[in-house]
Amino acid sequence: MNESGKRRLSLSWGAATDQGRIRSTNQDAMHTDSGLFAVADGMGGHQGGEVAANIAVRTLSSAKHDSLENFESAFVEANRVVHQTALTEPNLHGMGTTLTAIAVLGASDSRHFAIANVGDSRIYRFNGAEFEQLTLDHSYVAELVRREEITEADAATHPYRNMLTRAIGVHSEVQVDSWRLTPKEGDRFILCSDGLTNELSDIDLMKHLLQNPLASNAARALVRAANIHGGRDNTTVIVINVNIENIQTSEFGEDTLVNEEQSNSLISENKRNRLISKLFLRLKRTIGFDPSDVKNLEES
Ligand code: MN
Repeated sequence: MNESGKRRLSLSWGAATDQGRIRSTNQDAMHTDSGLFAVADGMGGHQGGEVAANIAVRTLSSAKHDSLENFESAFVEANRVVHQTALTEPNLHGMGTTLTAIAVLGASDSRHFAIANVGDSRIYRFNGAEFEQLTLDHSYVAELVRREEITEADAATHPYRNMLTRAIGVHSEVQVDSWRLTPKEGDRFILCSDGLTNELSDIDLMKHLLQNPLASNAARALVRAANIHGGRDNTTVIVINVNIENIQTSEFGEDTLVNEEQSNSLISENKRNRLISKLFLRLKRTIGFDPSDVKNLEES
């Protein structure tokens, strides 16, 4: 390796989301850009789940997430805005959402990931040999499995399998799991809602990754497979492929994070912004409350 060379992290990603074959709406939300990947799975009657997931993802993506500390604060902020909105709008009382995300931190050859999670949406890493769930599920059945009171198989059919022990927006405070991770050449990450993992086994997930080297194809194939298996829930999948390039410093004036966008996330983002604008407008008209103001107050 050349002494003047440095490592450059190059990511490519793809994403797909679908309401599935049973549900009439999609209460999942997601975000993908060069520095942030997030999945949220909302819950709550009326529009609650959809609103909670979209507000959480939007709050996270517009907050600072350039350090682990800021990333964690962005989760806390998402919790506050969702909770505040739920308290103010009777139709949205009790709404909440999972939120699991990767932020790209650092500069130059020291780039790494920050991972944060609340709820039971998951992040997996596959390096071609090992397949590993990086996040812990904050769910009642996962706690029971961790305490070895029930097996993984019991958990899949347990009557309380949808009960979360932590969620964004349900309480005024939230406990966030977060940590740093150094991505390696060839690593592939999956971020997903439980619509995927309730339908497919780890082996299925690996199989679709291996059959689809392109991130966008893998994301689409996984969502399609969840639907074929039953599609009983909304399914959202983001796949990130990691490449580490060794480059000459003279070749590039400054460090560049190369991204190849291959996703359909723009559509969902536009939809998300329309939905939230509509909701905020309605809140402002009916009760003079605008969640954007909550955010601004905090910042000033
Ligand atoms: Mn779900």
